[in-house]
Amino acid sequence: MHYLITAGPTREALDPVRYLSNRSSGRMGFALANAAAAAGHEVTLIAGPVALETPRGVARVDVISAQEMFEAVKAALPAADAAIFSAAVADYRPVQPSAAKIKKSAATLTLMLERTPDILGSVRSVFGWHGFLVGFAAETKDLLRNGKEKLERKGCDLLVANDVSQPGIGFDSPENEVTMIFRDGSARPIPRMAKEELARLLISEIESELRQSCGRV
Ligand code: C5P
Repeated sequence: MHYLITAGPTREALDPVRYLSNRSSGRMGFALANAAAAAGHEVTLIAGPVALETPRGVARVDVISAQEMFEAVKAALPAADAAIFSAAVADYRPVQPSAAKIKKSAATLTLMLERTPDILGSVRSVFGWHGFLVGFAAETKDLLRNGKEKLERKGCDLLVANDVSQPGIGFDSPENEVTMIFRDGSARPIPRMAKEELARLLISEIESELRQSCGRV
């Protein structure tokens, strides 16, 4: 089977030396790529700017911005059987990045931002892809309700939701504690564990879901 996995943050340029980004380390996505490759699958890993080594047997495509990630996903998706979107894509970017370094002058500076393309949200509706789709959702409240709504809206087969208001898990941390939400509305809480261990569990869960649904594995 061929997995497409997105990982890490994106950077949205303000000027030639500054950007908007977030605290994503990319560890969850890299752990997933490693687990999928170790299970014998082909893996394309589309990575934002992170300081991590490419897992053995993984084809890595480096990108910087949400727009670049969108283009890379669009190009790689047709070859994939399953896709896991674990990247923390910036939701907004500066409308017009400055060609020259922004000088300090006035006491305040107003930035005009616009929405970036919703990559996961484009998979079914824009790219027309029919493979097994896994989304991530970082929530600070109403985890289950928001997660279920996101799964439906983005056409996911499985949504992995985590409560990022809890200290020590999720963003920029070696551990994660998530709830798996399935299409039938059922939810399975997964206790806190190392991202590597969670990645193995998720890959075997995806495999068993695929086996049950249509024997694709
Ligand atoms: O809507 P929200 O950003 O919370 O959804 C999170 C999920 O959507 C994650 O799987 C993330 O990788 C993906 N996403 C995306 N493109 C965006 C924003 C989020 O693929 N522009």
